[in-house]
Amino acid sequence: MVSETLPARRVLVAKPRGYCAGVDRAVEAVEKALELYGAPIYVRKQIVHNTHVVRTLEERGAIFVSETDEVPEGAIVVFSAHGVAPAVHEQAARRSLKTIDATCPLVTKVHNEAKRFAARDYDILLIGHEGHEEVEGTAGEAPDHVQLVDGVAGADSVQVRDPDRLVWLSQTTLSVDETNETVARLKERFPNLLDPPSDDICYATQNRQVAVKEIAREAELVIVVGSTNSSNSKRLVEVAKDAGADAAYLVDDASFVDDGWLAGVATVGVTSGASVPEELVDGVLAYLAERGFADVREVESVPENVRFALPHELRRDLRPAAR
Ligand code: SF4
Repeated sequence: MVSETLPARRVLVAKPRGYCAGVDRAVEAVEKALELYGAPIYVRKQIVHNTHVVRTLEERGAIFVSETDEVPEGAIVVFSAHGVAPAVHEQAARRSLKTIDATCPLVTKVHNEAKRFAARDYDILLIGHEGHEEVEGTAGEAPDHVQLVDGVAGADSVQVRDPDRLVWLSQTTLSVDETNETVARLKERFPNLLDPPSDDICYATQNRQVAVKEIAREAELVIVVGSTNSSNSKRLVEVAKDAGADAAYLVDDASFVDDGWLAGVATVGVTSGASVPEELVDGVLAYLAERGFADVREVESVPENVRFALPHELRRDLRPAAR
């Protein structure tokens, strides 16, 4: 727990925050591909949902496209951490693209669950946000079996073929509390609804929510560093408010912080989404220090030490280069 005797005008920084293992791997995959094969390297969609990361990779020679048909035949394309539907792999194969799949292994796990339950002819209720790339990729594994459930309202309206052959899965970056509410509502309607074989909301999303709750209890203001299209970052803002912060805002970097937010505030909480480089948090801390919030304390809630190996296509090609 955080001590109650700390001096005023302080900053509590949540730990863990920032890069998760899946983002780290995806960004490194593009960097290594640029080193190994040279620019340009095409990337389908934003490799991770962070404006600064995308801009930095663009400066090094990455070209971001919306779809694989924008990639010249035979070129190299990296698939983002959010995953892709099988149809995207097929499209890439038809264009003879060399693909590097940076889908986070924890997203792949959900894809595999969808395939397994579809093979057993279950209806799959996929809890997630309409239009999010990850949801499109997972649903694309079994389009005839998956229905999207977007929040409690979606749970009220969804129709199923057989309530005794039903499982729910979820997007990896949802709010744990909100998802529990949606599942509870679904179970009122479908008591035999199966749970996923293991948590679909990933360790990084859960840990960052636990950590922001801890600081939000003691902060009037919580600043979450992250881009507006980052699902897990947006959830951190909601979780901070629910946990007791008077106000919580999402900022891409320090230039988005408004001085007016600090009026009358003694304790500011700071955290960052799973796709956010630490230097952007450092920028916010420097901004706060200039305004009298120089007493900075890190509050660690959950130890975290997860790493994923690079995509296998890269490991294979890096091996000869390493000799
Ligand atoms: S937020 Fe979770 S699922 Fe998404 S890339 Fe990070 S570890 Fe993987």
